[in-house]
Amino acid sequence: MDLGINGKWALVGGASKGLGLGCAQALAAEGVNVVMVARRARDLEEAVAGVRAASPAVTVLGVAADITTPEGRAAAFSVSGGPGTAFDIVVTNAGGPPSGDFRAWDRDVWIKALDANMLTPIELIKATVDGMAQRGFGRIVNITSGAVKAPIDILGLSNGARSGLTGFMAGAARSSLAAQGVTINNLLPGAFDTDRLKNLFASSSTKTGEPAEAIADARRKTIPARRFGDPQEFGATCAFLCSVHAGYITGQNVLVDGGAYPGTF
Ligand code: NAP
Repeated sequence: MDLGINGKWALVGGASKGLGLGCAQALAAEGVNVVMVARRARDLEEAVAGVRAASPAVTVLGVAADITTPEGRAAAFSVSGGPGTAFDIVVTNAGGPPSGDFRAWDRDVWIKALDANMLTPIELIKATVDGMAQRGFGRIVNITSGAVKAPIDILGLSNGARSGLTGFMAGAARSSLAAQGVTINNLLPGAFDTDRLKNLFASSSTKTGEPAEAIADARRKTIPARRFGDPQEFGATCAFLCSVHAGYITGQNVLVDGGAYPGTF
């Protein structure tokens, strides 16, 4: 299927690894020019080189910056030779907050989580959607978490911050933007085989003394698909949501979790 987005420009946050990289790869494979953002320059350079090699026909640019800061976002919007603020597609993503006991989190910890997982996506949307609306096409995909639908106790920072983003997006998606060709959707990962998941297992292992692999096996057994997701299949879903064919899908929370969420709806 031709997704109809050849030649568009996309900004992808948290794109040097994991789910963000999966989205950047899938969009580039569809002919989309991609600006990839992550903080660590060396990892980012490697990721950019990989996407360029796989999709030589498109422009792939890397911006080593912290997307959760105003300076980082400004850097992403001012890439030399890039599209400035004229992005057609924005995939909002940054690292997830740490796990732990909510009693240990003070205001600073909460503000950091809110900045990364709620306010940064909102700032990125503010900076891009009006241009998209003027051009009559725009796609925002927020990488959030299955924890928005089924909270995970040790991920209270994620449950809280992302729920705030989800509530905001539900309204923004149904604003006048909807009639101007701009869709806003959230993509909710279940358990995907990325560094983030490995780090969460390692952290649980340190706390409980149980081997990380045993914790991973136990988690796998709770998933009807009996496996962790592959970032490339997450990227493919993201690319579809960014396609011309998904123009009537907006304000939705799309779970990609191998059936882990147990509800009917
Ligand atoms: P990951 O493998 O740890 O990759 C995170 C990516 O984001 C890296 O490229 C990282 O590079 C970049 N990043 C982190 N903080 C950043 C910042 N402030 N500015 C710019 N880039 C930043 O994580 P992932 O598994 O792909 O997860 C992506 C998102 O999905 C996270 O919010 C995570 O909580 C959520 N999620 C993941 C899962 C899962 O199973 N994997 C499940 C539910 C939700 P640098 O560190 O170099 O910046």
